[in-house]
Amino acid sequence: MAKARGYAVLTPKAELVPFEFDRRALRSGDVEISITHAGICHSDIHQGREEWGQALFPMVPGHEIVGRVTSVGASVSKFSPDQLVGVGVFIDSCRKCENCLAGLQQYCSEGMTGTYNTMERDGESVAYGGYSNLIVVDENYVVNVPESLDIQGVAPLMCAGITLYSPLRHWETGPGKRVGIIGLGGLGHMGVKFAHAMGAHVTVFSHSDRKKPDALAMGADEFVANPSEEYFKKNGNSFDLILNTVSVDVNLELYLSLLRLNGTLVLIGLPGKPYQVPAGVLLNKRRRLAGSMIGGIPELQEMLNFCGEKQITSDVEVIEPSYINKAWERTVASDVKYRFVIDTTKF
Ligand code: NAP
Ligand code: ZN
Ligand code: ZN
Repeated sequence: MAKARGYAVLTPKAELVPFEFDRRALRSGDVEISITHAGICHSDIHQGREEWGQALFPMVPGHEIVGRVTSVGASVSKFSPDQLVGVGVFIDSCRKCENCLAGLQQYCSEGMTGTYNTMERDGESVAYGGYSNLIVVDENYVVNVPESLDIQGVAPLMCAGITLYSPLRHWETGPGKRVGIIGLGGLGHMGVKFAHAMGAHVTVFSHSDRKKPDALAMGADEFVANPSEEYFKKNGNSFDLILNTVSVDVNLELYLSLLRLNGTLVLIGLPGKPYQVPAGVLLNKRRRLAGSMIGGIPELQEMLNFCGEKQITSDVEVIEPSYINKAWERTVASDVKYRFVIDTTKF
């Protein structure tokens, strides 16, 4: 067992405090990683505050993890000490269902094993996440990070990045496609960068005009703050794909009306309250309302390689551990450019 230091939420909705705990002893297929950076995802806040239902405490959040391998178990074949690696939203799955076998571990029939807020599959160890200085993970759930990337902006790729990359690929984004991204937060800004790099025409919808210059610099072709009724009328039936990354409710009917024949609106943000959608707007133009959740291990590696090729990373504000509570507040207030990343070497 190795002693780890980090920050934890001890009871629902409490502030995070310094926390010491044990990581499991290295098993033969495990990789021990000295974490250098961990991103703050809005999902950390939803879970720490039990906005998605009952959670497991003490909770060490964090599922955007990057660091260097410090040691490997006897049977590890893909990683060696000092290698730059990443860990994302899950650390295990059943490994035998059709989705796991297809590399879509996030849709495991038995449910993926999250990086935190759950028990590990051994039923004994609590899964503690990346707001800490080290982690031990089975090598099949670790990915290789290109050394050419600026390491500070890499951690957010492990959740925010893959969560936008996966639906953009699944719905075949490319030149000639018109893509809308609702919400320019941690997830949304990665969507803009990827959709632009894939050659699509990108429109950002935001709830203020504050982020316009940033959105255009990231590759957006258009920026629309609080779209008016007139905007929706004028631009009806024109988008191929819209990705909704907002963490609160939005008027889905209006955004669905922007889709052309067979267009798809993908739900990515998870506000916790059910949506109501009138059937008429879907029937009309055979529109589709879909959901998408992170991405599997092969796609995570594909995305990191794509980032290496195109030099894509997240725009980040790097913080010290003592700033985490303030960073959570600022994330909820949409006051972050565009992801907080904790310098985990300071734990
Ligand atoms: P975030 O950084 O807080 O971004 C959310 C964005 O939503 C904000 O930047 C803001 O964009 C918009 N927004 C926030 N409050 C708003 C309000 N009151 N009215 C209108 N718009 C508002 O969060 P995130 O980390 O990107 O996560 C976004 C959501 O995705 C969360 O619900 C998270 O749990 C979920 N998530 C889903 C997956 C998945 O696999 N599907 C993975 C990770 C996270 P503007 O300022 O541009 O309007
Ligand atoms: Zn996340
Ligand atoms: Zn499975």
